[in-house]
Amino acid sequence: MVHDHISKHFRLTETQKRALSRLKIETILDLLYHFPTRYEHSGDQKTVSGLVVGTDAILYGTIHKPQTKKSWKSKRPMSEAWLEDGTGRIKLMWFNQPYIAKMIPGGALVKISGRVEGNTSKYIANPEIEGVSELPIGGSDTVFGAQTENDELFSVYPESRGITSRWFRHAIAKILTNDVLSLCVDTIPKEVLAKYKLPKISTALVWMHQPKNERNALSARKRFAFEEIFVIQTAKQQLRKELDLEQSYTITNAKTHAEEFTSRLPFSLTHGQQHALTSIFEDIGSPHAMSRLLEGDVGSGKTAVAAAAAYAVVKTPPKERPSATLQVGYMAPTEILAEQHFQSFIQYFSHLPVQIGLITSSGCKKYPSKVNPRESTKISKGQLLKWVANGEIAVLIGTHSLISKNVQFRDLGLVIIDEQHRFGTGQRHMLIQKDGLIPHLLSMTATPIPRTLALTLYGDLDITVLDEMPPGRKKVITKIVDKTGREEMYTALRNELDAGRQAYVICPRIDEPDPRKMTALQTKSVKAEAARLSTKELRGYTVDVLHGQMKPSEKEERMRTLLAHEVDVLVATSVVEVGVNVPNATVIVIEGAERFGLAQLHQLRGRVVRSTHQSYCYALTSSGASSRRLQAFVKAKNGFELAEHDLKIRGPGELYGRSQSGLTDLGMEALTNLKMVEAARTEARNIIENDPLLKKYPALKNAIHTKKEKIHFE
Ligand code: ADP
Ligand code: MG
Repeated sequence: MVHDHISKHFRLTETQKRALSRLKIETILDLLYHFPTRYEHSGDQKTVSGLVVGTDAILYGTIHKPQTKKSWKSKRPMSEAWLEDGTGRIKLMWFNQPYIAKMIPGGALVKISGRVEGNTSKYIANPEIEGVSELPIGGSDTVFGAQTENDELFSVYPESRGITSRWFRHAIAKILTNDVLSLCVDTIPKEVLAKYKLPKISTALVWMHQPKNERNALSARKRFAFEEIFVIQTAKQQLRKELDLEQSYTITNAKTHAEEFTSRLPFSLTHGQQHALTSIFEDIGSPHAMSRLLEGDVGSGKTAVAAAAAYAVVKTPPKERPSATLQVGYMAPTEILAEQHFQSFIQYFSHLPVQIGLITSSGCKKYPSKVNPRESTKISKGQLLKWVANGEIAVLIGTHSLISKNVQFRDLGLVIIDEQHRFGTGQRHMLIQKDGLIPHLLSMTATPIPRTLALTLYGDLDITVLDEMPPGRKKVITKIVDKTGREEMYTALRNELDAGRQAYVICPRIDEPDPRKMTALQTKSVKAEAARLSTKELRGYTVDVLHGQMKPSEKEERMRTLLAHEVDVLVATSVVEVGVNVPNATVIVIEGAERFGLAQLHQLRGRVVRSTHQSYCYALTSSGASSRRLQAFVKAKNGFELAEHDLKIRGPGELYGRSQSGLTDLGMEALTNLKMVEAARTEARNIIENDPLLKKYPALKNAIHTKKEKIHFE
């Protein structure tokens, strides 16, 4: 019965059906796993006369004079109404929600909850509202029939248009019977529950939905948070185990090959880079596939590490074809980056008799050209794919196009995924060819991931942290600038340009904002700002623009002219955020800095850490220099510090989009608890070690299956 479709047990309107499907609730079990986001205390129930500004209140009463209006400041539509409860009346307002006034008629009996605000006259902004059939008598709660002392808790559920928290409360109360509970099997093995003192499933479900007290509710939340992380971890460990049983290409002599490569570089590797390579050689020297994530701050030199590994692979012939080479696939998130890597690899590998290909959605290239062996040439996709399939192209660099179905390698030995966080976690499997050996995988990311998240999302990978910068790099000087500091900043910028350096100016928008959208007015646009700068503060300098709506070929051309120093200042959107490398650029001006996340700001600042000149980052803000986030941006020593900071202030949900991680809010919450995540990993490992197919754990196996279906996370 727990797997029954929900419509078998509830009579649903079409709107309700749609709402439930938006919330991905199909079965009775899904409904039981639709957890409250918070609990209301019956003690919060107040009367209008007893309201205190700054506190939360639940009120029962009748609605008077509901109306839609334009808000006083922004002229946006809003709803307004009065609530009367016999002891007085208070104004209710809903900004940007004009439909609310149309939905509740005057005289309706309602329950509202929200925070009391105001000075001389009190009001509640954006309260939650639901219709009730009767008013409670006196102050104590009788609406839900609960005979409480003081503090009964009521679950508040995530809603969707057409279905209310109240509906969930009643529906769940109806199915939360002993019969149903006895049918729920526990995903977490008994011994694990006992070890961490977690409540079993039947208890936890009751505590989650109808807690007697905060302690019960917390304990249930902890259990389900653990469960979510544990299921993901087990899935990842299982994936890893499967892979470890398969054969891969054994790259012998990797170290010798790589040394040959690095001896040709104009610099010597940092200890961090050497350390990363040592781990990689160990991995690719074994008969099983490498699964490694290289996590290194922006500018730490990940490309050189990847190229050295790639070099060792293309120097290795496949077993049955001693005169051929193994192949390398290198995937980058943008065309600009793919093109840049293509150029670097040409430089790195030009002395070898190997061919290098580039594949993006705007075209294909090959190096060397038959006509001019020192240059690359454009070729058709069909031709390139043919040479990839017969093994003639040793290194194929590309964007997403690299994993399309029609790209077939002959002997793919190594897959490199650059800026991995841009892709999600499932890419590798698309590159694994059905029959044949499993390629080694090197994932790279400059987004510092808090450890808990790395252990969870990348639970199937070994992680190397590259925590050292190439020598001679000076720390970027970061300054927060408000209106008063602009002139001084432009003077400093011109000084840098006069000294032969280049600069970026980052704007949050491409075009002039729509004047009807008030909030956007403050935001600088790329086009307008470029036009303004070239006639005002930067008159006499060459200013160009770059943004995401340009054709890839245009973007490429812009980056080429910047690199060739035909352009002094590039005004751009955050498209330049990832990986682009122009060592002569030493200044980055970020307009509207408060609009960017910390990780993104850090990436942007990373555009100017690539040279030995002193670099500067100016974060422009209209909200004053006081913001804690921007202060952290100025002070942080590295990206990892910022990531932990972002995790604390903004929460993981906002940081790493839900859809990308596949985690629920509860799972996200768990990520702030390193001990819990580590415990889940330990248990998942033990289980997979002893029972890789989960024969003894059918419920867990089932949960993994459901999770995969729901979020397609592998
Ligand atoms: P990221 O890790 O952000 O991808 P890159 O690989 O693009 O960084 O490297 C940034 C710059 O540092 C490049 O110009 C590269 O040539 C240079 N570089 C890499 N390793 C070293 C090193 N050991 N010493 C000096 N410069 C280096
Ligand atoms: Mg890079």
